[in-house]
Formats: sequence, C-alpha cells, structure tokens
Amino acid sequence: MHDDPIEIVRTVTELRSRVRQRRARAVPGRHAIGLVPTMGALHEGHIALVRRAREACDTVVVSLFVNPTQFNQASDLDAYPRTEVADAALVADAGGDVLFAPSAAEVYPSGFGTTIDVGAIAQPLEGETRGPVHFRGVATVVAKLFNMVQPDIAFFGQKDAQQTLVIRQLVRDLDMPVVIEVCPTVRDPDGLALSSRNRRLSPGSRTKALGLIAALRAIESHFQAGERDARTLEAIGRTELASRGIADAHIDYLAVSDAASLGVVQRIDRPALAAVAVHVDGVRLIDNLVLDPSRAR
Ligand code: AMP
Repeated sequence: MHDDPIEIVRTVTELRSRVRQRRARAVPGRHAIGLVPTMGALHEGHIALVRRAREACDTVVVSLFVNPTQFNQASDLDAYPRTEVADAALVADAGGDVLFAPSAAEVYPSGFGTTIDVGAIAQPLEGETRGPVHFRGVATVVAKLFNMVQPDIAFFGQKDAQQTLVIRQLVRDLDMPVVIEVCPTVRDPDGLALSSRNRRLSPGSRTKALGLIAALRAIESHFQAGERDARTLEAIGRTELASRGIADAHIDYLAVSDAASLGVVQRIDRPALAAVAVHVDGVRLIDNLVLDPSRAR
C-alpha cells in the first residue's frame, strides 16, 4: 500500500508541471521518472509493471489512454473496456504517483498531422494482420507520451513482444533519452496470459483461449526435446490449436521467427519468438514464448 493519494491529470500542461516538481525533488542515483503506458482496463499484468516501476523510480507515472489511431477496426475500439475509476484505485494501490488520463482531443488536437513509421520490424505478425496503421499508431502515441512525460525509464510487457521491438527501434532511431525495460508476461494460474480483452470471454471461450498457451507450450516442449526446424514447430502449434477447437480460419498467425528481427528462420540456432494471434469467439488474443537454444536442456 502507498499512502499518498494518486494525482489524476488530464492535460499536458498540468502533467508537465507535476513532473517538473517531482523531478526537482528526486533522489540522485535512481531513475527520477518512470512511465508505464497503458490503455486501461488494468489487470495484474499492468500492475506488475507499476510495481516494478515503483521499485526502480522516484516517481511513477501511469498513462491511461485508449489510443484510437492504433485500432484498425472501429468495432474493436468501441468494444475496448473502459474502467477508469477502478484503474485509478489499482494504480494507487500499486504505488503509482500520477495517473495521466488525457482525452483524445488533448492527445490529437485538431490539425495533428505527424505519424511515425519504424520500418521493417513493424511489418510481419501484428503488422501484417492489423495493417500498417497499428504500429504507426503505437509508435506515434508512445513517442508523444515520451515527450509529454519525459521519463528516464519506461516499462513494457513481453506479452506484446513485437511492440517492445517497435519501441526499442523508435528509441534507438530517434535518439530518445529513455531506458526501455521489458517485464515478463503475467499469466493466470492455468497459463492464460492476462489481457484486458479476457473480460469479454464467456466461460466456454475462456477454456478455448487456453489453446494459445497450449500451442506455445507444445512448441516449447518439442524445442526442448531437440526439434529445431521452425516450420515443424509451427505445424505442432497449429495441430494443438486445432485439437482445442481453434480452426485455421480463426488464426491470424502462428509463427516462429527470429526473436530480434522477426525475420524468417528455418533452423533455430539463435533466440526465436514463437508468437500466436487468434480469434476466440470474436475476441482477438495474442501470446508468445521465447525459444532460446543457449538455455535449452
Ligand atoms: P495495454 O493496456 O494492453 O496497451 O498494455 C499496457 C502494457 O501492459 C503493455 O506494455 C503490455 O505489454 C503490458 N501488458 C499487458 N498484458 C500483460 C501481461 N499479461 N503481462 C505483462 N505485461 C502485460
């Protein structure tokens, strides 16, 4: 528990003034300002990032903004859960100091025109199925959040593996003075990766959704047993999905790719990313595991 009440701010001007005051009081030798960007509907996966930020930083800023420009489908944007009051309480409990919850007009005032495209890393997987608008939207809003908050460090989840690579590319290419820390995927005890979208799953759909981690674990266990051919591992994952009622028509992708570039690999002789995206009864879910030959038994 954290005793200070959380400060909720909605404008960039107000945010800057709060951050400036807090930076002036920061203890040297620690990260002064940490940022956890979120789209709200917070769960333990987000809260783990806030706790990690609390450990590492003097001031923890959590942003809560359902970014319209990264949604390729208006229906998905409309259906995205919005639970700000509960979110603020969870952030306060986890030790967050400032909740930045701007309106869309604050982030994209009329006349807004800039878009950031980070290039090849955004193209496969999510880029291919959600289209180029998705990661352009993500890169642009994250660049804006970094400029608004000016954090020393920002925290992201491995759950969105390609997003972490897009953000590292953005920071590297644009010389942004911010450290990126990636935190492990938080799962329910049965293995389902936590996601704000899980609350849209019926009990039956939730059982089906366990197919994602089952497929990834099937891939991982064959990898651990010595299988190194990426296409064979993908086929193993697809068979597992099918056995759990997730047909090919509902798979956006199931791919074993180079973990750093997301390029095509044949034989896994360096870290690979097994990533999956499927639609379970109308809800789009993603998950991934890293296959690292240097750590295989
Ligand atoms: P979102 O609100 O979905 O944009 O997610 C905000 C941040 O939380 C992103 O960096 C996500 O990768 C991270 N995140 C979402 N779900 C999880 C999870 N289950 N485990 C760890 N991080 C997560």
